[in-house]
Formats: sequence, structure tokens, C-alpha cells
Amino acid sequence: MSPKAPITQDVMTIPRKLPEGKVNLVGLTRDQLRAALIEHGTPEKQAKMRTGQIWQWIYQWGVRDFALMTNLAKAYRAQLAESFVIEIPEVVTRQVSGDGTRKYLCRIAGGHEVEVVYIPEEDRGTLCISSQVGCTLTCSFCHTGTQKLVRNLTAAEIVGQVMMARDDLEEWPTPGAPKDETRLLSNIVLMGMGEPLYNFENVRDAMKIAMDPEGISLSRRRITLSTSGVVPEIARTAEEIGCLLAISFHATTDETRDVLVPINKRWNIEELLQALASYPNVSNSERITFEYVMLDGVNDSDEDAHRLIDHIKRHKIPAKINLIPFNEWPGAPYKRSSNNRIRAFANIIYQAGYASPIRKTRGEDIMAACGQLKSATERARKSRKQIEAEAGLSGN
Ligand code: SAH
Ligand code: SF4
Repeated sequence: MSPKAPITQDVMTIPRKLPEGKVNLVGLTRDQLRAALIEHGTPEKQAKMRTGQIWQWIYQWGVRDFALMTNLAKAYRAQLAESFVIEIPEVVTRQVSGDGTRKYLCRIAGGHEVEVVYIPEEDRGTLCISSQVGCTLTCSFCHTGTQKLVRNLTAAEIVGQVMMARDDLEEWPTPGAPKDETRLLSNIVLMGMGEPLYNFENVRDAMKIAMDPEGISLSRRRITLSTSGVVPEIARTAEEIGCLLAISFHATTDETRDVLVPINKRWNIEELLQALASYPNVSNSERITFEYVMLDGVNDSDEDAHRLIDHIKRHKIPAKINLIPFNEWPGAPYKRSSNNRIRAFANIIYQAGYASPIRKTRGEDIMAACGQLKSATERARKSRKQIEAEAGLSGN
């Protein structure tokens, strides 16, 4: 299909309120799930076993209805349904691009919306998920950065995006059926809306659930967290999540990076590189990805390419450099570098011995490409109280 093929869009709006007082089991760690079961009447002696059983129903089989949990006694299932729900974000719209990319607009508690993008490739399928509604940072080339932060997503809402996509791809296994080794959803990138390291605990808990072998069971090597450079949280990412790391680098001097990625004023290039050099898991097989958006006349000169290599070599960071052609959005103050410029830049990096893939732009016709995400319904900043009250609606 040509990338210009018509866009399809289904609208599935089912406004739904969480039943008062019930606790959502999605997004709880195993310990939290166990504690919740005990609190609501499961005898302590049985709690560990019940936690394992319910965990598998939710994350291995994708079941959302307690009545279908057939290895639990009927009375116990009814008891669970009185106290708990299994809730994930609801899909409001789904658009399918000419190239097969799917963009979902999901509604979360409080009526906020986040975007989730599924990118199918030959040998894998990557889900790009969001960690916040909007972003507090204001990178000047990023569409999300023009939207004020509304709130952090809960762990339920983060892992719920993965569950939602598995629903849409019809990828939950059927008990008893042979295990399918080829996965439609095989990789996760935390590259949607928001700065994941400003929502560390929820991102960590959600990714731990996605990695749990008795559930969605994605390998930690198939999860990549992208950060603009929240230096104090970088080591913690390796220790507590263990996933791969991508850095929104984008500039080779502090002067330019201060403008493109303003968090650089807080932690500059040198501090960032030092944190990366000591990222605990880094090795040649688990390199750090340097993301570099190609902006015409701003950061795309030969000197920039040489300086970039210099930075990486000086700190001996096993790295690959992912060049991202800038995706324009309405009112964007930059232009994309020419294809020739991008190729020349890539070549300098390649000659220096580093992989320098140029990211293929996907889903541009549905505004699903990197940096184009932004909820259509922009909301004014809310008071902390209001935000907390809304987040409380989801039960955790
Ligand atoms: N906040 C995190 C993750 C989300 S952004 C971060 O900044 O890393 C995901 C990637 O898309 C980042 O590398 C970001 O710099 C890039 N990006 C943002 N806007 C873009 C645009 N308009 N064109 C191309 N890439 C963009
Ligand atoms: Fe936020 Fe990342 Fe966009 Fe910067 S690039 S504004 S950190 S989402």
C-alpha cells in the first residue's frame, strides 16, 4: 500500500465510569496485588497462590472478567468482583496508516487522552507508549512539548496501553493452544508522550509487569526507554528496570542543546555523558541509542557529526546513533534536513565505526510519527488536588 493510501478511522466511544470504591487490579505489583487480596478478605494462607492465579488470568490470558477465572471457586470469583475491577484505558479512536502503522487515542480517568502507536515491521512489531499526558519539558522541536503537562500516568494506564494493543491485535493466547513464537507486539519503546524518568515509579512498575515471565513476558532487551536526559534517574533505570536506554541527544554543543532540549541547562552534555558512561548494563551487545533529530541548518553540519563522535569516543560509550528526520507539525519552527545532508551526516558516523541508521518515518499521514503526538483535546493546567482526585478514580 502506498503511504498515501486512505486513512481508516473507527470511532469507539464508550464513556464509562469506574464503579465507586472498587480497586483496579491492573498495574499493581505482585506484592501490592497480594496485599489488596488480603485486605478484601482472601485468607493470608491462600494469598500467594491466588495472586499467582489472578496474575496469570490478567497478564497471560488477557481476561478482564472474574467470572471467567475457572480455576477459582465460583463464590470466590463473585467475592472478587465485588471489590475489584480489571480496567485498562479505553480506545476512543483508532487510525490505520497506509503503511500499517496504527495510532490509538486512549481515554484515561479524568477524561484525558493519550496516544499510542503500533509500528509493524517485517521481523517485529513495536508499540510506542506514553508515560505522561503532555510533558513538562519544552523541547523546541517537539509537538508534545507544546502541550502542558496534565498529569503522570498510573502504572495501570502505562501497562494498560500494552494490554489494549494486544486486544486490538488479538494477541492473547488461548489456554491449551500451542504457543505462538512470532509476536505481533514484540517490542516496547517509551517514546510516546511525556518524559518517562519524570514518572519513574509508575513506569518501572508497569515495565516490570510487562517483563514478568508469567504474563506478557517481554524480554528486558525488547524494551527501550527514551529520556531527554534526567541524569539522576539514569543509573536507577538500569538497576530497577534493566531495559535498554535511548537518549534524546540532538545537539553537540551546550549552546545548541540548551535551546533544543532545555533540560540541558540543568544537566549539561558533559554530565549526561558521564552518567551514560557508567550506565550499569552497557556493553557492546546492549549499546545506548543516541537519538539525533536532523534539523536543517541547526545541528546537521559535518562539524556536528565529528563532535558527536568525539563525545561518544571520549567517554568510551558503546553506542549507536539513530538519525531521525525531523517530522514537521503545524507551526513547527524547524525544517527537516535534506536527504543528502542526512546521508552525509550518517556516513561520517559510520566511517568512525558506529552504526548510524536513519529512522524510517512511519505513520506520518496520521500524525503518528515521532514528536507529532499531542492530544487533540488540550486542557488547561489543573490544580494538584483536582489531578489527584481524578487519578484516584482509577483505583490506584
Ligand atoms: N521524552 C522522551 C521520550 C519521548 S520523545 C524523550 O525526549 O526522549 C521520543 C523521541 O522523539 C525523542 O528522541 C524525541 O526527541 C523525538 N522527537 C520529538 N519531536 C520530534 C519531531 N518533531 N521529529 C522527530 N523526532 C522527534
Ligand atoms: Fe518532552 Fe521528550 Fe518532547 Fe522533550 S522530546 S518535550 S522531553 S516528550
